[in-house]
Amino acid sequence: MTTKYTFDAHLPLRWPTQCAVCGDKPTAMAKARCSVVTSAGYYVIFWTRTSRIITLEYPVCQKHNVLATVAGLISKRSLLNLGAGIMVVYAGIGFFAGLYQILTIGTPAVGEAFPWFSVVFFGGTAAGVWAARFTPVKVTDAQGDLITIKFSSDDYAKSFMALNAAPVGVGISPTSAAR
Ligand SMILES: [Zn+2]
Repeated sequence: MTTKYTFDAHLPLRWPTQCAVCGDKPTAMAKARCSVVTSAGYYVIFWTRTSRIITLEYPVCQKHNVLATVAGLISKRSLLNLGAGIMVVYAGIGFFAGLYQILTIGTPAVGEAFPWFSVVFFGGTAAGVWAARFTPVKVTDAQGDLITIKFSSDDYAKSFMALNAAPVGVGISPTSAAR
């Protein structure tokens, strides 16, 4: 289970004084980034888009700073990662088509591309799963002033909620979603 939390960007957030990954004394700040496309238009030749980059900093220990940063880059919501995700899906289609051909006609019709489909599909999927698991705090959405973050650890989410519960104003809608 993952826990999501939506808050008003104007209200200060209070972070637990513990590493978001292991709970140790925090010595560094990891960044959670997200790029949200606010408008997009197609003008004959060019795509134009306007996007907002949301950046949040949260405390981690020195050891987990790198882990949280790398996982955060892979799992962050961005056009680049959307493209990578689509590539993995296509590679998956190629992989299963090739596998089907191996099982039915003995050789993949996609030929030499088959090993690459396999590598991209399994590598990409593994990286995505790993990153989703090890990104302690992730910005998942931003609509106007409301920003939604997601925690990978329920315990950490509980400590965070306890600190940020019930100030006056908008943004207190902790929701839980099954992954
Ligand atoms: Zn740590």
